Amino acid sequence: MGFKAKERKHKEARGESSDKKKAAKTGELPCGIRSCQGWADKSLGGRSISRIDVQDIWGDGSFSESKGRVKVCKPCYRVYKKETKDDKEY
Ligand SMILES: [Zn+2]
Repeated sequence: MGFKAKERKHKEARGESSDKKKAAKTGELPCGIRSCQGWADKSLGGRSISRIDVQDIWGDGSFSESKGRVKVCKPCYRVYKKETKDDKEY
């Protein structure tokens, strides 16, 4: 696969992005769940949760972790809360 070299040529291009349809809120931290397009920035309601819980809910290898924690966006955190609530019976 050799498209890495091609990509490098475009590096000179100025930061003009052609897709302006993405006017929605953008953050800096992408959600740790690979299938999710959300943002895990704290200002956008993102949270950091244990990778073990994430593994339980989303499955092995479907997320990216950092130091045992996974940064997730707000909707994903909701899913997590719902899931863990059902599990624990106090
Ligand atoms: Zn998410």
